[in-house]
Amino acid sequence: MERFNPTLSLQTLVQPHGVTIAPTGSLAEIIAGLSSNQGRGLVVEEQGQFCGLITQREVVRAVGEGTDLERITAATLMLPQDYCLHLSDLDHPLTVLGKFRHLGVDALPIVNNSGRVEGMLTRQAFRNSLRPVDLLRIKPVADVMVKEVATISAEASLKEAATLMAERGITSLVIPDPVNGYPRGIITEKDIFEVLCRSGGKLEGTVATAMSQPVLTVQPYQNLWQVNHLLKEHHIRRVVVVDKQGAMVGIVTQSNILAAIDIAEAESLIQVLTQELNKATAELRWQLSQQQAITAAITESEQRYNTLMSYLPVALYCRSDNNLWRFSYVSDHIYQLTGYFPQDLPSFQTLIPPEDRVMAEREIEQAMAQQRSYNTTYRIQHRDGRFRWLNDRGQFHPENRSFHGVLLDVSEQKRTEERLKTALERELIVSTIIQDIRQTINLADILQRAVTSIQQLLLSDRVFTYRFLADGAGVVEVEALSAPQYSILGQLIHDPCFTKGTAQRFLEGRTLVISDVQQAQIMDCHRNMLLSFNVQANLVVPLLRGRDLWGLLIVHQCRAPRLWTREDVFLLQRIAEPLAVALQQAEMYQSLEVSNTNLQQMIYLDGLTDIGNRRCFDDLFPKEWRRCQREQQPLSLIMIDIDCFKAYNDFYGHLQGDEVLKQVARLLEKHLQRAGDMVARYGGEEFVLLLPNTDLEGAICIVKKVQAALRDLAIHHEKSTAGSSLTASFGIATTIPQSGLSPTDLLALADQCLYEAKAAGRNRWVAKTLEGGSASLTSDG
Ligand code: GH3
Ligand code: MG
Ligand code: MG
Repeated sequence: MERFNPTLSLQTLVQPHGVTIAPTGSLAEIIAGLSSNQGRGLVVEEQGQFCGLITQREVVRAVGEGTDLERITAATLMLPQDYCLHLSDLDHPLTVLGKFRHLGVDALPIVNNSGRVEGMLTRQAFRNSLRPVDLLRIKPVADVMVKEVATISAEASLKEAATLMAERGITSLVIPDPVNGYPRGIITEKDIFEVLCRSGGKLEGTVATAMSQPVLTVQPYQNLWQVNHLLKEHHIRRVVVVDKQGAMVGIVTQSNILAAIDIAEAESLIQVLTQELNKATAELRWQLSQQQAITAAITESEQRYNTLMSYLPVALYCRSDNNLWRFSYVSDHIYQLTGYFPQDLPSFQTLIPPEDRVMAEREIEQAMAQQRSYNTTYRIQHRDGRFRWLNDRGQFHPENRSFHGVLLDVSEQKRTEERLKTALERELIVSTIIQDIRQTINLADILQRAVTSIQQLLLSDRVFTYRFLADGAGVVEVEALSAPQYSILGQLIHDPCFTKGTAQRFLEGRTLVISDVQQAQIMDCHRNMLLSFNVQANLVVPLLRGRDLWGLLIVHQCRAPRLWTREDVFLLQRIAEPLAVALQQAEMYQSLEVSNTNLQQMIYLDGLTDIGNRRCFDDLFPKEWRRCQREQQPLSLIMIDIDCFKAYNDFYGHLQGDEVLKQVARLLEKHLQRAGDMVARYGGEEFVLLLPNTDLEGAICIVKKVQAALRDLAIHHEKSTAGSSLTASFGIATTIPQSGLSPTDLLALADQCLYEAKAAGRNRWVAKTLEGGSASLTSDG
């Protein structure tokens, strides 16, 4: 449907307004002006200002009304000033159309804001610019025709015709056939005007002389577009409507057509319709695009769903609340989870172990009561007989009393979780063991703790340490067992297969893992050796001490073969590490102990004579004192000084003197009878004997024996004043130690006795008891 072309400005349709006339213009001038303007009308103007408009009709009417033609001026004849269009009207075609219709003229002057006429717009030009063709096409002539057709006989005068037109306010008259009434001709105001022009303003003659014929006719059923076409083609403005027989039924004019299609109405209708249409079109397009988008989205989501479904280990399900374990729908993935396709899936509850089912049901029922989603995990037995862990998540929908949810295989997670848990627990235990090992000093303890812990962690039948001996054999040093019958503690093992190469591999940190001794690819000698200890599975890590292979940490499984896990091996390796440290520490500790003893001995020994030195005596004397005090036993102290030894040195030389000192020391040593007795070199050529649990008599007895032995030794001493051979003097002091006395008191007493012995001539002894000094004995010299 076409609309006004909005880009078409009506201004382009404006034509020059041609000749104008002053208000004072005469009828003749008016007629002349109208003629030269070719019926477009005559603008009445005064000083360039628009005054009014005169059309052929005014002239015809004035004549018809019998006005005195002489007195007619443009001013008397002209239509009023509102018979015009303002420039601004040209922007509103409907206004223009309205004016044409309302004013009933064929052309209107265009007046600008200053009142000047700019041109003329004819109804024709305007109409041509409109193209409401479709409206015309659908409207039949019958709808718009004027049924009361003014008629006049052919014999009537033109004056009568003009009068009739003026009276009736019409522009044409039909002349019917007097016989059948069919239209014979038609006379219009234009025809009458032309007569006026020809006769110089006089209207004479009959209608028949001026009427147009034959009459163009249309039929009522024809449409206005056809009529319009006809009018255009024949340059006429009206056409008579006849029925099939040709009888006149009405007349239709351009005005009727325009009125019929009522442009204003049509335009708004068109506008509304167009808007509606546009809206509808847009809506439709939108809906279409929406639908396309939705369809695309659905397709995409379906694809996505299918992709997801095929890739995810998830089975979707729906089940009713009256049988929790029977699916009303379950997706195909249930096959991967259970080994059954949806159609042959047995009642789900038979697949779930009862204890798991009870837990799951509890969770689902609670969730239902609390109106929340549920999330539970349980085992199901797969068609292949193995158990799998399923995670079951879903929600209860009260409106259709059903559960919608998904089933997910979480076996792998569960296994990982378990492994992680075990690993964590183990890690905790292992770190405790390691700490334990580090805090323990005693190697035997450490090894025992280690094997016990490993046995408990691995629940193996036998865990032990195997220490290599020098000859390549080894000994089972510590063990931990699952049952006493597996004990091999203390056994010496000669492994014929254990070569230097084997040792080298262990030294490089090799671990030996045998899951099944019968099946393992090992040498027969090795297998037989293991079987002789009832070993079915074996796990061995080296125990290194520094760069040496100290031994092996061994785990045996005796009841059945055992598939060792990486964690098992790792556990053993982890514990072997601190053991290596402990072994090295123990070795260091041992050597330290030896050197400590040496050092200790070095500190206490006299370098020359290899008997205890002064420090040794000083350390031990108070201890023996306290012991004898506790036990209330006598303690004897003998101070010995070689006689005239300076002279010996001087005469025989120092080296010889040293030899003598050594001999005397040996001699004294020999005379110690009891474990607690001690001899020490007190300094120079002085010695001391400490004799616990020995009374004065006992001490004198020993001194006498020493004297005799010295005599027997018969060390030549030419320069001695005490005899021909080497002699010594002795100071003997004895006491049962009391709280009021001290070791120094006893020492001082012995020293005093020695002094007395020297003073008495040497080579003799003086003996005294501490406390009161009641007993004082002297050797006979
Ligand atoms: P008296 O009978 O009074 O004990 O006379 P003496 O010469 O034995 O005593 P004195 O205290 O005058 O001299 C002790 C001598 O012992 C001095 C020193 O030459 C000697 N002597 C001390 N220690 C050693 C030693 O380690 N080796 C040697 N060869 N002689 C020593
Ligand atoms: Mg001396
Ligand atoms: Mg001396």
